[in-house]
Amino acid sequence: MTGATCAIRGTFFDLVDDPWTHAGREQEAARFIRDGLLVVKDGIIADFGTFAEVAPRHPALPVTHLPNRLILPGFIDGHVHFPQVRVLGAYGNQLLDWLQTWIFPEELKYRDRGYARVAAGHFFDALLAGGTTTCQAFTTSSPVSSEEFFEEAARRNMRVIAGLTGIDRFAPADFLNTPEDFYLESKRLIEQYHRKGRNLYAITPRFAVGCTDALMDSCRRLKEEFPDCWINTHISENPSEIRAAREHFPDCADYTRVHEKHGLLGPKFTAGHGVWLSDDEMRRFSKAGAAISFCPLSNLFLGSGLFRLGRARDPEHPVRLSVGSDVGGGNAFSLIRVLEEAYKVGMCNNTMLDGSVNPREQDLAEAERNKLSPYRAFYLATLGGANSLYLDDMLGNFDTGKEADFVALDCNAGQLAMAWRQSLAVPGGVPETIEQAAQLLFGVMTLGDDRNVDETWVAGARAYKKS
Ligand SMILES: [Zn+2]
Repeated sequence: MTGATCAIRGTFFDLVDDPWTHAGREQEAARFIRDGLLVVKDGIIADFGTFAEVAPRHPALPVTHLPNRLILPGFIDGHVHFPQVRVLGAYGNQLLDWLQTWIFPEELKYRDRGYARVAAGHFFDALLAGGTTTCQAFTTSSPVSSEEFFEEAARRNMRVIAGLTGIDRFAPADFLNTPEDFYLESKRLIEQYHRKGRNLYAITPRFAVGCTDALMDSCRRLKEEFPDCWINTHISENPSEIRAAREHFPDCADYTRVHEKHGLLGPKFTAGHGVWLSDDEMRRFSKAGAAISFCPLSNLFLGSGLFRLGRARDPEHPVRLSVGSDVGGGNAFSLIRVLEEAYKVGMCNNTMLDGSVNPREQDLAEAERNKLSPYRAFYLATLGGANSLYLDDMLGNFDTGKEADFVALDCNAGQLAMAWRQSLAVPGGVPETIEQAAQLLFGVMTLGDDRNVDETWVAGARAYKKS
């Protein structure tokens, strides 16, 4: 990988472990450096620690100081749709109607290279403005959209995962792939883009309702030929969708079985949503090393339901999790806003689990795991997301050897009331301890949005600065 060389001085916060495994003392899973120095060589973190300790080792390097900011690893969006930028916030439908009414007509436009290229500019601008430096994205059934996605990502030197999005039923005829064309075009795109620069390829069956056995078999064949590729799909998002999937795959006892049957469930497999997965399906995800992308903005916007966060984080069978904006089912690119909604979903889950509605459903241990502390939240958006995507050897925190993608947050920006709120949490507004940094971050995630993202850096170079 190529990238820039720089040294950044400022206040740093990152995660070094899974905070769910440190319940009650989650700060042990995080790292806070009040006055730190991050040294980047060719886009890779070469040194990191306190300024006093690190600076003397690099006397010749010019230092960029980012005062009054909290610097975090770049956010990782585990589930987003490149061709849905323009249909953000579409009115009035749940998933299956929404796809037919709003989504397929818009995505059809991405056969046009000029349209797709303009859209790619808007898409990556929006990601960076939200502090997102890596995404796993869906494209459309036209290879043009995948090509323009990867070309734009490469121009910006961003670490991304995407792939041709296969669908051979449940869409207008001119939107569908055939299983054979999907196989051939995917193979061509893998050879052209996978591991070229920072691009990574995901074999992408859109969802079981839109994919026949034959298309799923094309995915299996691709995974067997290209085992290094990722797999990206949707699962158990909406009850009507789940019923349709069951009708299409009557030999499968549940939705997860569709992916098991076609040899897809395993490491580097991510399914978005998983709102209605059974306990047994979650256990099978855990055992297989497969991941779910939790998309609360979308799950609420489309009325899909409340993802059982605490159940997914069962210590006996933990499921790898990322957070996803799921734009345009989700109505914002900002993972800060996604974390806000994720927090609320956990709180709603706990209305059932605390026993106040039905004492027989009380489960205080699961309820505790639903509580999205700032440590847990920003873990999902950084190191946890990287772990779910099997990218934690290269992304997710400030360990040396990792890629230098990061975001500088202004914890006082945003709503008019923000700065005064933050000054109650941290007098003076400048955190001195890890607990104070977490207090500020909780304020950011519950009150904040893009306005808190002051700068976003990709591979050691500034890629976005709030005007
Ligand atoms: Zn989606």
